[in-house]
Amino acid sequence: MTTLVNARLVLPGEVRHGWLRTAGDRIAELAPPGEAPGQAPSTGEVDDVAGRYVVPGFVDVHVHGAAGVSYQSGLADEAARAARFHREHGTTTTMASLVTGSPQELAKAVSGLAEVAADGVIAGVHLEGPYLSAARCGAHDPAWLRPPDPAEFRDLVQAGRGHLRMITLAPELPGALELVRTAVSEGVIAAVGHTDATAARTREAIEAGARVATHLFNAMRPVHHRDGGPVVATLNDPRVTVELINDGVHVDADVARLVFAAAGAGRVALITDAMAATGMGDGDYRLGGMDVRVRDGRALLADGTSIAGSTITMADAFRRAVTDVGLPVEQAARAAALTPAGMLGLADDIGSLEPGKRADLLVLDDDLTVTRVMKNGRWL
Ligand SMILES: [Zn+2]
Repeated sequence: MTTLVNARLVLPGEVRHGWLRTAGDRIAELAPPGEAPGQAPSTGEVDDVAGRYVVPGFVDVHVHGAAGVSYQSGLADEAARAARFHREHGTTTTMASLVTGSPQELAKAVSGLAEVAADGVIAGVHLEGPYLSAARCGAHDPAWLRPPDPAEFRDLVQAGRGHLRMITLAPELPGALELVRTAVSEGVIAAVGHTDATAARTREAIEAGARVATHLFNAMRPVHHRDGGPVVATLNDPRVTVELINDGVHVDADVARLVFAAAGAGRVALITDAMAATGMGDGDYRLGGMDVRVRDGRALLADGTSIAGSTITMADAFRRAVTDVGLPVEQAARAAALTPAGMLGLADDIGSLEPGKRADLLVLDDDLTVTRVMKNGRWL
């Protein structure tokens, strides 16, 4: 049992000065609203956080790797290394995203990562591809893009043993709407992305069950005032959560502000889309089958034709949401934790500082850098 005292608790909708008590791997209790200072229970260990922010552990639903390794390998030790790096930077729950690859490569990676998920290191697997638009393929290997293949998808679901949680696809491809319906029936979240779809086609995908926009704006038909495309169609639909890469490179801060104004923090999930170079500095890397060059922290395909993921952590995405986008800290925390948790169907267990939920939390300094990370009631 640990009681954090003298905290600025970042709760859904408010910042409350007071205390928070954990018991085992759970949040047990927290200061009631309006309580006078110094009322914390004095049982168990007391940990004075000296007025710092305490926020829920971040949830990253779209991330490819870090620390020199990619989830694409499907290897348990590499996945653990990437997950550990991101955990040290505030991500207490992570998906593992795979880029487009050959059928054999994806089957092997999904199968390997299913084991990693069963061990609790990752929350599940996100297939980004391979059923994507060639016109909007970004950093995906165009050689392996293919139309939706229901038989292959069912094999991947099987290989995932319940841990394949999300697939990004382009709804304009032949058979895509049927694949959305199949995914939903298999308990896999369908996301629209890497797409050249019209607004009308995107709405059809939402009607078929798609509930997420993969990195809104990036690798999507751009907004036109006579055809809002996937951006406007997903922003306008209250059923859809939109992912945002808030690294200041993929989406301008003014545009991010517009997204939050349109959809609210309850429908915007901050993601990293981080790749292997994250935490490694500039150099040459691989993303799936593609060569990536990182210069000044920006990841580009070696031929310079596309951005190739980011090198940020959720701590960066969160901090920028406050300092650059101008969100109140509790809204930034919602977009970094509760909203993505809800997207995964995990909001009863994680995503906010509420009694009964998992004791996954972070202590932030005044400049919003992550200084301490608690996962399952234990400090890292
Ligand atoms: Zn990605």
